[in-house]
Amino acid sequence: MSDKPYITVVVPVYNEEPNLHPLFERIYPVMQRMGRPFEIIFTDDGSRDRSIEILKELAHSCPEVRVIELNGNFGQHMAILAAFEISRGDIVITLDADLQNPPEEIPKLVTEIENGHDVVGSVRQKRQDTFFRKFASRIVNVTTNKMTGMRMSDYGCMLRAYHRNVVDNINRCQETTTFIPALAQTFASNPGEVPVAHAERAEGESKYSLYRLIRLNFDLMTGFSVVPLQLFALMGILTSLSSVLFALFLIVRRLLVGSEVEGVFTLFAILFFFIGIIIFGIGLVGEYVGRIYQEVRKRPRYVVRRVHGQENKKQN
Ligand code: UDP
Ligand code: MG
Repeated sequence: MSDKPYITVVVPVYNEEPNLHPLFERIYPVMQRMGRPFEIIFTDDGSRDRSIEILKELAHSCPEVRVIELNGNFGQHMAILAAFEISRGDIVITLDADLQNPPEEIPKLVTEIENGHDVVGSVRQKRQDTFFRKFASRIVNVTTNKMTGMRMSDYGCMLRAYHRNVVDNINRCQETTTFIPALAQTFASNPGEVPVAHAERAEGESKYSLYRLIRLNFDLMTGFSVVPLQLFALMGILTSLSSVLFALFLIVRRLLVGSEVEGVFTLFAILFFFIGIIIFGIGLVGEYVGRIYQEVRKRPRYVVRRVHGQENKKQN
């Protein structure tokens, strides 16, 4: 393959054995129809099923396919970053392996980039997920926009397109925990959004447990904003002010009514409330400190075992 690819499609894969052939059979014709040189990079994120065997076969039989085999499970975002590092296209598209993002929407995203946007997000129409997931996403979208000052309607949708410039800048960041759509947004000068269709997961189950989802959203919140810390400091100031007022009130009351010893349990309730807030605050500070610790150790973010398919190997 001598032509430099114009479009790179990036797919993170974690235990997606039954989805890989159907996915490839849909991506490939879409890309061919566009008539420009392309490459497809799959990152196997330490799958424990036969995903890597299927991907290796694809890489052998199809010159446009490369497969990065990671050494373990480093998470969806690291899997995508590993592919970004070796991507060569002027336009880079990311999508999920479970066919929730229809590959037929890729040309739409490419057109938007060609129209001058440097990052194109997508908004899932008629999203096919559980009520809980949709509800949680809505909260995340609203609060993240508020806290980070970004504008994005759908943080969770990974069907996205990036201009080479943005990908190069993302590659320069070596952060260990990240959230790619938000990171890209910080480098974008002209972000755009398009509505895309959304399907139910074809086979298998979501790889995100409730715990992993919460972790991911902590990454998003604390990775891109210190507003949580500032809000917390603000809350501290408000609490001290109101406790001064309360003390004044008690002094006046003492003068008017005389001494009284009641309301011990009310006192406990108030006390527990504030202890709760303090523990939360310590946890919050801990989140940031933990993140700083992770960054300063400067361990490799992911380990590539091998790259299958044509072209050179590159390690991080
Ligand atoms: N994925 C991954 N590593 C992980 C978890 C997920 O590469 O540790 C991939 C997964 O194979 C899929 C995409 O990330 O292609 C999105 O995962 P999933 O569909 O489980 O997430 P959901 O759609 O439920 O948000
Ligand atoms: Mg999915």
